[in-house]
Amino acid sequence: MLKLAKLFGKPEIFYSIQGEGKNVGQPSIFVRLSLCNLTCVWCDTAYTWNWENTSFEHNKKEKFKKDDWLIQLSDDELITKVKEFPCKNLIFTGGEPLVQHKDLSRVLKKLPSGYHIAFETNGTIVPTPELDNLTDQYNVSVKLSNSRVPEADRIVDKAIQFFASSPKANFKFVVDAESDVKEVVSLVERFTIPLHKVYLMPQGTTAEALKEKELWVLELCKKYGFNYTTRIHIQLYGDKKGV
Ligand code: SF4
Repeated sequence: MLKLAKLFGKPEIFYSIQGEGKNVGQPSIFVRLSLCNLTCVWCDTAYTWNWENTSFEHNKKEKFKKDDWLIQLSDDELITKVKEFPCKNLIFTGGEPLVQHKDLSRVLKKLPSGYHIAFETNGTIVPTPELDNLTDQYNVSVKLSNSRVPEADRIVDKAIQFFASSPKANFKFVVDAESDVKEVVSLVERFTIPLHKVYLMPQGTTAEALKEKELWVLELCKKYGFNYTTRIHIQLYGDKKGV
């Protein structure tokens, strides 16, 4: 059984456009999985991991009752729901989807052919060869110190090295201040990440917050040769879930 985020009493599976990164604007089916191995303080999907009776910090101070926000689906139930949508781009997001790599490999093997499979990952878990064979794309968002996650948890050399050398991976860094970009430059150099695979995205969960940052982020992209990405879904829908 896969553990999915539960939204309005239903598994969070929805048809929308990719709002960020390399495939921005592309119609896609999103499957939001529950559970994460990190605890970013500004996480906008804390309902996938920040359960009641845990000591994790979060900007919004909000805790979630696990039974109200997590739902389990059988492989057949998940595949039936995915097939309802007129689209073959399938994106697993979270939380951190690769936490559930064994269940994911099993489900993907049962999925009809023709789907383009992508994962939104925090880049701390090396996919198994089995899952890698079933995957077309990784959108890797390595967390910076602005996440307030200890460095040893968010910078996992083996995992970043895997993604840096994978032709399927691209990197998206969420930047909140100009000092964040220095961290990005240092990571790009340390792991020899090709510049064409690197995207900078302003941090923000409202259109106003994004607007404040977009110009200086864009200028730094030009300076360092990175790609710029905004968050179209935030500009269109704000902080609304399930869109
Ligand atoms: S890795 Fe992603 S899902 Fe996990 S806490 Fe950080 S932002 Fe949230």
